[in-house]
Amino acid sequence: MNRLVIGLVTGMLAFSASAGAKELKPSEVEARDLFKQVVEIPTVEGRGEVPRLVKLLSEKFRAEGFDDIIVKPHGETETMILRWKAGGTPIAKPILLMAHMDVVEAKRDDWADDPFIFREKDGYYWGRGSVDNKAGMTAIVMSLIRLKRSGFAPKRDIIVLFTGDEETAGDGSRLAASEWIDLVRAEYALNSDAGGGGFTADGTPLGYGMQTAEKTYRTYTFSVTNKGGHSSKPRPDNAIYELASAITRLEKHRFAPMLNETTRGYFAARAKQEKGALGDAMRRWLADDNDGEAADIVEADPKEVGLTRTRCVATKLAGGHADNALPQLAQATVNCRIFPGVDPVAVKAELEQIAGEGVAVEQSDSFGASTPASPLRADVVGAYTKAIQKRFPDMPIVPSMSTGATDGVFFRGIGIPVYGVSGIWLKIPEDARAHGLDERIPVESFHMNIGVWEDMLRELAG
Ligand SMILES: [Zn+2]
Repeated sequence: MNRLVIGLVTGMLAFSASAGAKELKPSEVEARDLFKQVVEIPTVEGRGEVPRLVKLLSEKFRAEGFDDIIVKPHGETETMILRWKAGGTPIAKPILLMAHMDVVEAKRDDWADDPFIFREKDGYYWGRGSVDNKAGMTAIVMSLIRLKRSGFAPKRDIIVLFTGDEETAGDGSRLAASEWIDLVRAEYALNSDAGGGGFTADGTPLGYGMQTAEKTYRTYTFSVTNKGGHSSKPRPDNAIYELASAITRLEKHRFAPMLNETTRGYFAARAKQEKGALGDAMRRWLADDNDGEAADIVEADPKEVGLTRTRCVATKLAGGHADNALPQLAQATVNCRIFPGVDPVAVKAELEQIAGEGVAVEQSDSFGASTPASPLRADVVGAYTKAIQKRFPDMPIVPSMSTGATDGVFFRGIGIPVYGVSGIWLKIPEDARAHGLDERIPVESFHMNIGVWEDMLRELAG
């Protein structure tokens, strides 16, 4: 998951999540009970539990009359695809709804409580996956069920794609966007695993981010080989020194700054809020794309790092074979997060330039294709904005680019735009625990998210 929370501050009235426990409505009890079952199935890679979750969800859906469900096993995991057909002749191409069923490992000893025992405490639902991404997944299930029970008939097909390995291999989404594309082809996708909002501890709204772009993941290896020899006879050519020089050049190198529709919208919103040097730099850069100096100031800020350009960083190092021998091989791993739409081949060429002669640069890992930012469609932006602002009037909705990668990358890669439109809000920074310890979601946020999805689907498929 890649939940971006932006640093916007508005004049909106403080919102309080600790207003005391409210009595749940029967529909909310049903959602909580499903959520409890979902969280308590430990869908961690290697435990083989995803099929049990698929079975639970399939039974829940079938009981409501959703019977077009296809389960695709792959490896130890499964991908689930459901289609809710349009009531009559579809008025448009389908909408794809995305979530992932797997979670990151969590160890009982590290957590305050068992991560796979669902708990309600202090206004929160606790458990591994409560934020990433089981709340979003449950919201898709419950919103479809509520829509169907209310008599709603979609005017276009709604397709659900639940993957079982987003946190690891990403095969579910990759296969869905290739081999199984006929089952999931859509006009665009709404991803529950990205986007969302934040409040400070005192209830000041930080805004909602709508994820419309993500950077491309590539890993490269820098290798220097040398004939080696006895360390009592050092020579000017040395694999470790050569590699060190290359890495030092990489450290100093800055790729060209870039803006796209998403980051332009994001920085325009940020510039309104930032006073001082950072805000000035944002305004200067927005006024002149070529003002690299201003972009460098923005990039240097910890909140904005990675948002202005491609970034590559050394992450691993290895070399030499004996204390008393000249190294025959020295290698560094360089992980890149490439700006949307930039060809990784061009990045590799730039890395070769930086590394210099004598340093071999090879791509060693990749995830998805380089994808452009998804266009800010008026219908999707409008439906999301309306659903959020119905609950939080004046809440700013700002396009966002993830510096990491999600399941969405495979669909953007085949020209299907993807929008991270989670309705979840968290208190920042204390609830930012995805992949971490004692993961939790505010009770009100969990239930509100279901309503957000229901409203968006009424608007977009009604
Ligand atoms: Zn996730």
